[in-house]
Amino acid sequence: MARQFFVGGNFKMNGTKESVAQIIDNLNKAELPSAVQVVVAPPAPYISVAVAENKQKTVEVSAQNVFDKASGAYTGEISPNQVLDLGAKWTLTGHSERRTIIKESDEFIAEKTKFALEQGLSVILCIGETLEERKSGVTLDVTARQLDAVSKIVSDWTNIVVAYEPVWAIGTGLAATPEDAQETHKGIRAHLAKTIGEKQAAEVRILYGGSVNGKNAVEFKDKADVDGFLVGGASLKPEFVDIIKSRL
Ligand code: PEP
Repeated sequence: MARQFFVGGNFKMNGTKESVAQIIDNLNKAELPSAVQVVVAPPAPYISVAVAENKQKTVEVSAQNVFDKASGAYTGEISPNQVLDLGAKWTLTGHSERRTIIKESDEFIAEKTKFALEQGLSVILCIGETLEERKSGVTLDVTARQLDAVSKIVSDWTNIVVAYEPVWAIGTGLAATPEDAQETHKGIRAHLAKTIGEKQAAEVRILYGGSVNGKNAVEFKDKADVDGFLVGGASLKPEFVDIIKSRL
């Protein structure tokens, strides 16, 4: 089964009501190829703006993070159920900024992933190594550890998309080369084949994220295990459309 090309946009903590509405409106007007699945993750306060503005249903909407409980005394947290209530269908989990700045553990990220799936959200599960880890040659050990935390408690990966995002490439302008990304994606898929089974591993989409832009996206075109992109900075700009169209 061919894996559908997927492009995610992570707005991070950027934007206003007006700018988020404008980005969605631009995507709706851009005649995006229907073969591409496009998911945007605005900051939580603007999820409803994105859902309401998405009149052509061109894009799906995601949260950037959720908690692992449905409701209760968890000040400042957002539940998957509330995200669904706003009309969004996705959440990110494990973004490196949450792993490194907020200090979320592999286990906590796995619990959130499991709970989000159980409540009915699809999940973009982000993994990736730091520069030090890359230099020490442990990239695939790190991604395996991050994936194993999830596969230990989640057996059905149908609604998970994996985003491989080397931390050193995020927001730095230093994208991984298409060859490096392909090699790591292949290693990630091989590891998943051992843990969640060959069939699921062959079907799961593995996105590359880290300084993807309107120019370099096309260079990943012939990389067999790169099934799309998770885009940060460039998702706020008109070039996001070029990334979405990079496989045409
Ligand atoms: C991200 O935040 O997921 C990301 C990949 O950022 P950027 O594209 O800006 O490197």
